Amino acid sequence: MSRFRAAFFDPTGSRYGIPTWPWRMAPPHLMTMRQLAAAGRRPGGQQVQAQVLWRSGRYRAPGGVRVAYLYDVRLSLPKRTPTAAQLEALAKANAARRTCPDCKTDAGYVLPRHLGTCLDCADHTERSAA
Ligand SMILES: [Zn+2]
Repeated sequence: MSRFRAAFFDPTGSRYGIPTWPWRMAPPHLMTMRQLAAAGRRPGGQQVQAQVLWRSGRYRAPGGVRVAYLYDVRLSLPKRTPTAAQLEALAKANAARRTCPDCKTDAGYVLPRHLGTCLDCADHTERSAA
């Protein structure tokens, strides 16, 4: 183990307050939020369980040290799938964003906010103004 990796090896958390591993050395049941999501899981209310520390010149991290927070997959829960009612509410909200207030039709795309109408209506308005 290099000098830096050894500095980040603290499985009991006596030095850093929470269990800490160098890059690629964390036990497999500890995952980042992104890894959990990729596995179809969410943290499920648990606190950060551990961290990975590594040296990186990128991103100008303070002291050149980057951190990734880890969650215990055994305390995680399956990702929530939206209910039928939630999906319906979403569909309604999206339909409202596509519906032109001038011609009252579903434009088939989200209306550009700076126009506030569908492109056809905006075009007509522009031409009659000209
Ligand atoms: Zn319109």
